[in-house]
Amino acid sequence: MTVVTRFAPSPTGFLHVGGARTALYNWLFARRHGGKFLLRIEDTDTAREVPGAVEQILESLAWLGITPDEPPLFQRQREARHAEVARALVAAGKAYYAYETAEELQAMRERALKEGRPPRYDGAWRDRDPAEAPPGVPGAIRLKVPREGETVVEDLVQGTVRVANSELDDMIILRSDGRPTYLHAVVVDDHDMGITHVIRGDDHLTNTFRQCQLYDALGWQRPAFAHIPLIHGQDGTKLSKRHGAVSVLEFRDQGYLPEAVANYLLRLGWGHGDIEVIGMDEAAAIFDLSDVGRGAARFDYAKLLHLNGVWLRRADDERLVAETLPRLERRLGAPPGAEVAARLRVLMPGLKERARTLEELADSAVFLAHPVPLPFDPKAEALLTPASCAALGALLEAWRDTAWEPGPLEQAARAFAESKGIKLKDVAMPLRAALTGMTTSPPIFDVAAALGPAETRVRVEAAIERAGRLAASAVGP
Ligand code: GLU
Repeated sequence: MTVVTRFAPSPTGFLHVGGARTALYNWLFARRHGGKFLLRIEDTDTAREVPGAVEQILESLAWLGITPDEPPLFQRQREARHAEVARALVAAGKAYYAYETAEELQAMRERALKEGRPPRYDGAWRDRDPAEAPPGVPGAIRLKVPREGETVVEDLVQGTVRVANSELDDMIILRSDGRPTYLHAVVVDDHDMGITHVIRGDDHLTNTFRQCQLYDALGWQRPAFAHIPLIHGQDGTKLSKRHGAVSVLEFRDQGYLPEAVANYLLRLGWGHGDIEVIGMDEAAAIFDLSDVGRGAARFDYAKLLHLNGVWLRRADDERLVAETLPRLERRLGAPPGAEVAARLRVLMPGLKERARTLEELADSAVFLAHPVPLPFDPKAEALLTPASCAALGALLEAWRDTAWEPGPLEQAARAFAESKGIKLKDVAMPLRAALTGMTTSPPIFDVAAALGPAETRVRVEAAIERAGRLAASAVGP
């Protein structure tokens, strides 16, 4: 059997991390078994459809690298097929037309509740002669659900789950306007698409019982089911905006890497030995549903942030440069020039050691692109005293004949400090302040080398000039 899985989002909003994890598990499971992963957009509920949601969902999946093996299928385009299957069930005596109006159904529900019964359809039209149908009233099609026995699902995550058939009523499969209900459309589509494994959130478990009855009535083989627990926030309630970012694209915009988000979502609910950091190719070789936990997972933003740092350090420098340049442009309002890209390239190994997100990376690199005068953070500013600036001026002189590379620059600075009877850090710290405007950066001689002799000189001289100006204004006229 070739495994075929699917992800079936409704375009009622952005793709949130719960949906993304469901998609990921389906994709990995198909890859693990050399099967196919398909995408179906469940767009039958036009009233709840959000404009742009389909594009957002596709963009989110593409960003995460979760690519379907065929172009997406749109459920709405299959309504004729859904109706045809429902009508065939009527012809086979397994479903029937029911003619209650919305008001009558409401009254039925209220009556049941008043009498302490569950509000189910009472099956009024189940055994009535269709000839009694009210003229001119379009009926809805309801499935004739067995009243005895139970429906049992061998779920690959939840184990054996069962419900007494008396708990279920004759559900509508085709509305009186000829449109399918969600439960029915899913079954027909999953069957026609050849889906072998339905992996979805456990909020769908009650639907599964009903869908199994539909499979049975149609004489179709049921797919295997795996219901994965929902994602909660740290407080144990369902993850929502209140907890923080929940949409996949929000994480992208906050500077997360797709492999880190995928890694985190995978581990959220699935575990294999003590693996924490895992790439998707590796995961596809070992992913199994038996390793999916049954309890709700708690989304831990701090853990994701940490994992993102791990993936950032592993990422290719050239890719990080490409990710950082547009972020610098956003910060400075102009596209950084070629010399900035070159500086970034040289310093990337040091910069990526210190950042946990692409946004942090851009914040730490913005000094490379900033024209003088640099903005100084207060701690850096405090390091630029008249005395330390005088030392910096002398250091520039000492560097005049030094090869402009980190090693020689550092050696020359050490010799310089020694000759002045000061410590290396007494000159290195003000140098960092002058070149970056900050008190943390990659190794400062790497920074000087990346900036080049001319820019280093410009920045040091600007810092000296500024310190002089501030000292003069502090003294007053
Ligand atoms: N369209 C459903 C949803 O967005 C999923 C249906 C399914 O996976 O069977 O929750």
